[in-house]
Amino acid sequence: MSSTVPADTSVSPLTPSSNILILGSGVFGLSTALWLRRAGYEDVTVLDMQDTASHSYSPAAIDSASADLNKIIRFSYGAEIEYQRLATEAAVLWDEWNAQIAAARDEDLPDVLKEGERTLWWRAGMLRMSGGDELSAFELQTLENMEAEGLRDQVFRSDDEVGRISI
Ligand SMILES: Cc1cc2nc3c(=O)[nH]c(=O)nc-3n(C[C@H](O)[C@H](O)[C@H](O)COP(=O)(O)OP(=O)(O)OC[C@H]3O[C@@H](n4cnc5c(N)ncnc54)[C@H](O)[C@@H]3O)c2cc1C
Repeated sequence: MSSTVPADTSVSPLTPSSNILILGSGVFGLSTALWLRRAGYEDVTVLDMQDTASHSYSPAAIDSASADLNKIIRFSYGAEIEYQRLATEAAVLWDEWNAQIAAARDEDLPDVLKEGERTLWWRAGMLRMSGGDELSAFELQTLENMEAEGLRDQVFRSDDEVGRISI
């Protein structure tokens, strides 16, 4: 009967100087790297099997869920208010990035952002349509949660008496 040595399953705690390797530079890999850096971890490397940076995530060259021409931030989540809050926090960060990009020097930007409006995200709004005359429980709960969080003026219902504010 052979004896086996138990595997060492202990994990060293991370310290600010730990070497951290992230595989995949999609939105989740990059977000993880960004927030680790902001949390004080100094040595974070992101690797990808595709050259996402050189191709600026163009879907013509990069095959990943994050490579696309357009993405939408949805704020309406019915009872799942935590997603509404995350989306609201995210929108503030996207606004900040827009401002940073607008103020950046050309040489600090990737080519794709030097052209056109130098904008990463547009608050274009979003239209939700119902299949019937009544709003679903999901839509009503969303409206209630938007109201509770002081965001009701961001949502326009077709039977609202006042017009929607411009954002
Ligand atoms: C058509 C479509 C539309 C969508 N629309 C929206 C939307 O409007 N709004 C929204 O919020 N979400 C949307 N999503 C969802 C969102 O895009 C994904 O949830 C998100 O992009 C996933 O990111 P990810 O980093 O996990 O994966 P990915 O973006 O797929 O990134 C994974 C990366 O890992 C790399 N990789 C994989 N294996 C290895 C390996 N072995 N070694 C090295 N690198 C590796 C890949 O090359 C890739 O770059 C949409 C998804 C799709 C498909």
